[in-house]
Amino acid sequence: MTALERAKDAALRARALKVVPTGMWGHLHAAKLPSAYPQFFARGDGATLWDADGNRYVDFMCSWGPNMLGHHHPEVEEAAERQRRLGDVLNGPGEVMVDLAELLVDTVAHADWVLFQKNGTDATTTCVTIARAATGKRKILMAKGAYHGAVPWCSPSLVGVTAEDRAHLATYVFNDIASLEEAVQAAGDDLAAVIVSAYRHDYGFDQELPTAEFAQAVRRLCDRTGAVLIMDEVRAGFRLHVAGSWEPFGIRPDLAAWSKAIANGYALAAVTGAEWLRDAAGRVTVTGSFWAGAVSMAAAVATLKVIRRDKVPDRLLALGNQLREGLDARARQFGASIRQSGPVQMPTMLFDDDADFRKGYAFCNAMLERGVYFHPKHNMFLCAAHTPEDIAFALDASEHAFSVVAALPTAA
Ligand code: PMP
Repeated sequence: MTALERAKDAALRARALKVVPTGMWGHLHAAKLPSAYPQFFARGDGATLWDADGNRYVDFMCSWGPNMLGHHHPEVEEAAERQRRLGDVLNGPGEVMVDLAELLVDTVAHADWVLFQKNGTDATTTCVTIARAATGKRKILMAKGAYHGAVPWCSPSLVGVTAEDRAHLATYVFNDIASLEEAVQAAGDDLAAVIVSAYRHDYGFDQELPTAEFAQAVRRLCDRTGAVLIMDEVRAGFRLHVAGSWEPFGIRPDLAAWSKAIANGYALAAVTGAEWLRDAAGRVTVTGSFWAGAVSMAAAVATLKVIRRDKVPDRLLALGNQLREGLDARARQFGASIRQSGPVQMPTMLFDDDADFRKGYAFCNAMLERGVYFHPKHNMFLCAAHTPEDIAFALDASEHAFSVVAALPTAA
C-alpha cells in the first residue's frame, strides 16, 4: 500500500489545535474519520478533490451534499461571478431574489412562497417557528435518530442543551405508523408539526426509504390534527426528484427546508411553503445579516436551471446504479458481506458483523489510498460531474479495498 503524504495536514492540525477548540468541530474532526483521512483540503474541480498535501481523489462525499453539479460548474460560476461584480451583501436583496423565488415556486410542487436563509439548520428552525406561529401550538414530532441541525431544539447532543429547550420535542420511529400515531396522540391538542426527512438517513445505520403507507400516514395525521407537515429536504433535496422527494407518492408537505444542493456549494437555504402558511411566515421574525446575499442566489438560479434542463436526478440514478451493482459484484467476488441501502444517488455501504466499523474503516482507508474518497458511516453523494469512468475507477479501487478487508485478522 502506498501511504499518502500527510505532512501539511498534520502541521495544519497542530496549528488548529492551538486556536480552534479540539482542532475542528463536529463531523469534520479527523477523530471522526478513518485514520488515513485528511482533515484539510486545497481544491475541488468537478468530482475531483485535492487535499492540503496535494493527494487527489474521486470524491463520493461531494462536500457532504452541496456539490451537486461538480465544483466550478461553468454556468454556475459565471452567474455567481456576474453577480459578484455587481455586489453580494448590499442593503437589501437584489432582483435575483425574486427570480430565484419564482423559479423555486415553479419547480417545487407544494411551494406557493419562499423564504431564504443560509444553512439547513436555519431552514428547519424557521419551519418549526412558522408552524408554531400558524397553529398556536407547541409540540414538534421528529423521528428518533434523525438529524435536523445542531441547535438546542433538535441537536443530537444534549451538551449545553436544557430540558426546557426540548420540553416540546417528542419522537416517533421513521416508517413506523403505530409509533407516529402514538406520538400524535400523546401530543394531544398541542401538536404544531411533524418534521420528517425525505428518507431515513441516520449516521452509521442502514438507510431506509419511506413506505408509501408511512408517507400517507404522515399526511393523514397532520391533516386530521391540523399540524404542519414539515419535510426536511436539506440532504436529499433535488437529488431524488426536482419537484419534491415525496412526489412519487403524491404526498406534499406544508413546509419544506432546503439547503445543501440548491446553490452548488454557495451558502444558501430556503423554506418553501403552502398558501395557508403564508400569513404565519410573514408574521414570524426570522432574518440574518447574510440571508439576502445575492451571489449565492445567482448561483442557485443557475444551479436549478441546470438541474431541470439536464434532468440531473436521472443522471445520478444511472451513476448510482452502476456503483451499487458494481460494489455488490466485487463484494461477492471477494467474499465480503455488505449491505447497501438508501437511494442509489446517495449510497450507504456497511459491512455485516462490523459493529465497531473496523471493516468499514479499513475499506475506506484502502479506497482513499487508491484515490477514492468514500465514507464508512454516512450516506455518500453522487454529483452530475461524476462519469461512468469515475465509477469504474472507484470499482477498481474497491477490489483492492475488499481484499484488504478479507485479509484483516479475525476480531478477538
Ligand atoms: N437536515 C438534514 C437532513 C441535514 O442533513 C442537515 C445537514 N447535514 C441539516 C438539516 C442541517 O443543515 P446545515 O448543516 O446546513 O445547518
